[in-house]
Amino acid sequence: MPAPATDTDAADNYDESLILDSIDRFLERDVRPVAHDLEASDTWPAEIVESMKELGLFGATISPEYGGLGLPATTYSKIVERVSAVWMSVSGIFNSHLIMAAAVERFGSPEMKAHYLPLFASGELRGGIALTEPDAGTDLQGIRTRAVKSTDDDNPGYIINGAKTWISNSINGNVLAVLAKTNPQADPPHRGMSLFLVEHGTPGFRITRKLEKLGYKGIDSGEMVFEDAHVSTDKLIGEEGRGLQQILAGLELGRINVAARGVGVARACLEDSVRYAQLRKTFGKPISEHQAIALKLADMATRVEAARLLVDSAARAYDTGERCDMEAGMAKLFATEAAVENSLEAMRIHGAYGYSKEYNIERYYRDAPLLAIGEGTNELQRLIITRQLVKRYPA
Ligand SMILES: Cc1cc2nc3c(=O)[nH]c(=O)nc-3n(C[C@H](O)[C@H](O)[C@H](O)COP(=O)(O)OP(=O)(O)OC[C@H]3O[C@@H](n4cnc5c(N)ncnc54)[C@H](O)[C@@H]3O)c2cc1C
Repeated sequence: MPAPATDTDAADNYDESLILDSIDRFLERDVRPVAHDLEASDTWPAEIVESMKELGLFGATISPEYGGLGLPATTYSKIVERVSAVWMSVSGIFNSHLIMAAAVERFGSPEMKAHYLPLFASGELRGGIALTEPDAGTDLQGIRTRAVKSTDDDNPGYIINGAKTWISNSINGNVLAVLAKTNPQADPPHRGMSLFLVEHGTPGFRITRKLEKLGYKGIDSGEMVFEDAHVSTDKLIGEEGRGLQQILAGLELGRINVAARGVGVARACLEDSVRYAQLRKTFGKPISEHQAIALKLADMATRVEAARLLVDSAARAYDTGERCDMEAGMAKLFATEAAVENSLEAMRIHGAYGYSKEYNIERYYRDAPLLAIGEGTNELQRLIITRQLVKRYPA
């Protein structure tokens, strides 16, 4: 049940345990004492974000040459697990920001990297990825947002029109990686899609509303429109027509970190339940001694351990630099379902107290289902896994 131990291989290059210790101290000092109240009032955690900047979390996976910590996915996933075990929303504030940063670092021009990555790493510029639209989530090739090359020689660039929804960090952040169609006639459609950095203050780009949610409170989810929003040519990430591949490569890290969130939430459910089951007595003994509850605890603990192993295995595959859709998909599928199942079991174990706003169980129960939807639904993960199985093991 303890949080994952230090990786001795990784520790050859830097002291992983020092980093994880500082994360634990930050969580106990700055997050745990306020998480319940901030969550209940759906308040964006401004002071926590300042501490995250000091810790370097906004540059966790960005290379040191741009001011980041350059952490491998193996260490990063341990950080995400720890943060999510205390308050999952906090991990969302840097997770999609780092997917945006990964797209810039992998595919951006030297000038784009030199300008943006240090600002991303310090947290001065923060944001996320704007892919989903009112009519297209899983089927990203169906997006309608268009980016058309400007014909005005005095003002070169692209004119963007369209709408995005459910975008994390879009209100309290200040920059987004936006997926748009640059050639709607392209066949297959993904060859006509491109990725742009769009900053707050870009004329024609505005946030239209904050979305209200079941859980994942505190972090902002926004809806936005682009009405003849003009971005200069240097805001195109990499080449035109490569946007979907670029963002999908980043989503592997996204899936590993959503999986790590699943481990964190599943572990929090387990830890609270193991404690409660020893304190709560019925029929003259702790409920942990009733076999029906003991079986639940055993299954919950086994799910946490199995999920963590899958996340670590996917993170190791990612760190080799090879595509790892199957490993990331398996980790995402299993670990997020573990969070959903453990949150329901934790609620049963806590009885009426699980249903109470005074305890954390109802928060885990509201937060966990998002994990089965975000960064590609779990239905989609199953399709990705099978596609890879057929590719890797042709008959
Ligand atoms: C809190 C929150 C934060 C989010 N943050 C972001 C963000 O920062 N950036 C962003 O771009 N998006 C974000 N999203 C959107 C999220 O990525 C999408 O909701 C998700 O991709 C699913 O898309 P959809 O909701 O349109 O569902 P749909 O694509 O309409 O799917 C509906 C159902 O059909 C299933 N389905 C779809 N296609 C298939 C298929 N081929 N085979 C089998 N089943 C299928 C799905 O699994 C699902 O069960 C966020 C969503 C939430 C709730």
